[in-house]
Amino acid sequence: MFKDKVVLITGASQGIGRVIALKFASLGAKVALNDIPSQEENLKKVTEETGGKYFLADVSKMDQVEKMMADVSKELGGLNVLVNNAGITKDRTLAKMTVEEWQRVIDINLTGVFNCSKAALTLLIPSQGNIVNVSSIVGQRGNFGQANYSASKAGIIGFTKSVSKEVGRFNVRVNAIAPGFIETKMAEAIPEELKVAVKRLTSLGRFGKPEEVAATVAFLASPEASFITGEVINIDGGLSL
Ligand code: NAP
Repeated sequence: MFKDKVVLITGASQGIGRVIALKFASLGAKVALNDIPSQEENLKKVTEETGGKYFLADVSKMDQVEKMMADVSKELGGLNVLVNNAGITKDRTLAKMTVEEWQRVIDINLTGVFNCSKAALTLLIPSQGNIVNVSSIVGQRGNFGQANYSASKAGIIGFTKSVSKEVGRFNVRVNAIAPGFIETKMAEAIPEELKVAVKRLTSLGRFGKPEEVAATVAFLASPEASFITGEVINIDGGLSL
């Protein structure tokens, strides 16, 4: 379905990003894998697994992002899909949260999406490509100890809807996904009693798998979703109901 299409995934060295990369590779895409230099060893492994190419860049730095887009275009021949997946948490209640903890999460999770989307536009307009942004149900509902993270993920939803209105005339689509709790190292960090409580509140009674997130991303990025834009799809097993 994605034969000869170029798909760039940020934060692709592990977790959900890695599995999204594997999914696109299995569907025939040429995958461009991004992460930060400290993740280069993991990124090399995913590059081997997918047959893709990797591009080191900190998504919060526009100069690095612009260079990455130019390199992706030069080495892989353009860009069809951008998956803005890179994200971090620095959890603390607002009373204890430092300005640095607030700013770093906003810089990577939200400004990173701005930087990559803006820099990708000149490639996505000619290819009539699309963007899939990784938000979170926390961006819609908030979460104790995650004012910075939930603000960044709520920002992604507003960004997705606004930009989809701007670029629809070029036949470029912009969508977002809002995962609930997914089995990755980010979810492993959650205290055991909270995990039990979350599962109890989830209709399907379990955490999601990265593969279940990747399947939705691939659908949104595919021609099967050609009339879907500005949309946010929850992948949360019913937790947000
Ligand atoms: P993960 O395993 O930590 O993967 C995220 C990757 O992004 C890591 O390799 C991380 O490197 C990298 N990264 C950090 N800062 C970066 C930067 N400045 N530029 C480029 N890459 C950077 O997390 P995940 O659980 O797979 O989550 C992936 C996305 O899904 C995130 O946006 C997250 O918010 C979202 N999400 C996750 C869940 C969940 O339950 N796991 C639920 C909802 C939404 P380091 O590890 O070195 O920081």
